[in-house]
Amino acid sequence: MRKIIIAGNWKMHKTKGDAEALAYSIKEKTKPRENVEMVLFPPFTSLESVGKILQDSFILLGAQNMFYEKEGAFTGEISPVMLKAVGCKYVILGHSERRKYFQESDELINRKLHSALEEGLIPILCVGETLEEREGGKAEEVVETQVKNGLKNWEGKREVIIAYEPVWAIGTGRTATPEIASKMHYFIREILKELVGELSQEISILYGGSVKPDNVDELMKEEEIDGVLVGGASLKVDSFVRIYNFSF
Ligand code: PEP
Repeated sequence: MRKIIIAGNWKMHKTKGDAEALAYSIKEKTKPRENVEMVLFPPFTSLESVGKILQDSFILLGAQNMFYEKEGAFTGEISPVMLKAVGCKYVILGHSERRKYFQESDELINRKLHSALEEGLIPILCVGETLEEREGGKAEEVVETQVKNGLKNWEGKREVIIAYEPVWAIGTGRTATPEIASKMHYFIREILKELVGELSQEISILYGGSVKPDNVDELMKEEEIDGVLVGGASLKVDSFVRIYNFSF
């Protein structure tokens, strides 16, 4: 059985105090669920303090990005070693906002992925097409390229999570229908099968893009959707708690 992940990506929101308050309230209002992991991704400035709040709970910690070197003269960057030291288990790589605003290429993302794996972090590799690419009939081609390049030289020995996040659905209020998402997840699993054979059945594939309390249940009913990566709706306690308490 693949594990289910409910992930909250806080992006560049919440000062340290606000992040701590949010993490604390989420912790107070949730209980462990069988085979479901909750992971919070605060900004770097509150990773350590949120990590301390989550320490005695079932909730896990992740980072929104990292650089591939362990240390060195890379002003402004954060290394996987630093993330491990503050208790991160996961790291998001290749989010579409990183690809768009910081020109992150598949090659760079692949270097980060290997570095994360070497340090014992579980990368969540984000892939997804733009509206233009979907309307041009290129959605599958784009996703296939991102998955194959992002996972280049990965042999399946260490855990990786994939997040399918169609760019046209992120922060737009426009969610992919469960059918669209499920079809792409199935397609991604076929690519994974090509890469690592039967191991592909064990890799969780999350959906991300305007997931809200009122659409999470129908998305989670799809067999191919193994969890959700949530942006906007993870910033409010009640909506994120409701998403975490999805029903199949
Ligand atoms: C995201 O940031 O990964 C995301 C899916 O954002 P939102 O839920 O706001 O669309």
